[in-house]
Amino acid sequence: MTSLTSVRLKVLAREAGLVVTGVTTAASFSDIAEMVLERIREGHMTGLEWFTEDRARFSADPRNLHPTARSIISVGVPYWQPDLQPPQDGEPHGRISRYAWGRDYHTTLRARMERLHACLEAELGRRIEARFLVDTARIVDRAAAVRAGVGWYGKNTMVLVPGYGSWVMLGELIVDIELEPDTPLRPRCGRCTSCLDACPTGALVEPYTLHVPRCISFLTIELRGPIPRELRPLMGNWVFGCDLCQEVCPYTGAARPVVDPDFRPERIEHCFPALTWLLRMTEEEFREVYRGRAVLRAKRSGLARNAAVALGNVGRPDDLAVLEEVLTRHDVPLVRGHAAWAMARIDAAAADPALRRALVSESDPYVRGEIRQALETPPPARDQQRPVAAAQPIQLRARRTPAAAR
Ligand code: SF4
Ligand code: SF4
Repeated sequence: MTSLTSVRLKVLAREAGLVVTGVTTAASFSDIAEMVLERIREGHMTGLEWFTEDRARFSADPRNLHPTARSIISVGVPYWQPDLQPPQDGEPHGRISRYAWGRDYHTTLRARMERLHACLEAELGRRIEARFLVDTARIVDRAAAVRAGVGWYGKNTMVLVPGYGSWVMLGELIVDIELEPDTPLRPRCGRCTSCLDACPTGALVEPYTLHVPRCISFLTIELRGPIPRELRPLMGNWVFGCDLCQEVCPYTGAARPVVDPDFRPERIEHCFPALTWLLRMTEEEFREVYRGRAVLRAKRSGLARNAAVALGNVGRPDDLAVLEEVLTRHDVPLVRGHAAWAMARIDAAAADPALRRALVSESDPYVRGEIRQALETPPPARDQQRPVAAAQPIQLRARRTPAAAR
């Protein structure tokens, strides 16, 4: 065991910009691995093709990642921003998940972890073998944070950190020094089910279980092909990720606001992009606006596809002209296909002539299929009509006290 106390470690971590810290041993997370394997077999992870059973087994043992590992330092940076609202300019705007508003968190966290590592070597006067993980193996991110007492699992599958809720980026340093482990925290969801009730797609199929193929975060970021038609109406105006099951959480609602420049958006396109701009943006504009940001992961085609769905959900008959332009001119068939769906979703009768014209000139079989299905769209039943608002107002700080969760 090194002479470094838990208090001193937390001071050094704060100086490195890592606001929350906890320590656990480098022992395997075998119980978590079993749970993940079960989820894979039950189909809850379908679509994350890279997340195989072998990967789950491998990443559950920190010593596979770092053979001389003795301890894991779990670290976190809160990112809840207090004062940002979608513009009220009459334009339909999309929503980007808060974690992606600032600079790419992988780069930010890694830089801060490297700073902490350098401080630890200076403090202990020895070289420390370390491996830095941010989202490299999420099974480890969350499991390590929970075992290190940084937070506890909420029913929305997020780690809830006292004082910050789930608005915390997690990462870990796997190190070859023995540090005193922290004590895990008691889970505190109690009888609360707010996150399960708030999920629009039913992706939280039971407490602590996320069915990935229905989650808007998966649909808008990871899924490369067409979004299942039955889920499109449930996605609101999300174009990258979704925060609904976090926003309603009383612990997250009570989060302390944080002003961390690395997590601030620098322009409106980083948090509430205009949907028509997303639909028309060029590859150069996309790369320029989202350079160094997590949004790049969705690619221009994915973001434009998502914008078409969002516009279908929150747009007005006035937006049919833009969607017709996208349907006939966008270079990506995936986007043209979703534009056809969006036109019928806004007003099937008004969209009919434009859809028929497009069917004559369109040669891509996928887009033709979408247009044909759009032409068959019946008018929405009274109880399934689209919201009138151009953009869903963001729900800020559900000010229920944490005690309400018990
Ligand atoms: Fe549901 Fe959105 Fe949470 Fe996914 S991120 S579980 S879609 S509320
Ligand atoms: Fe979900 Fe409520 Fe637990 Fe938050 S406290 S994770 S909203 S069950």
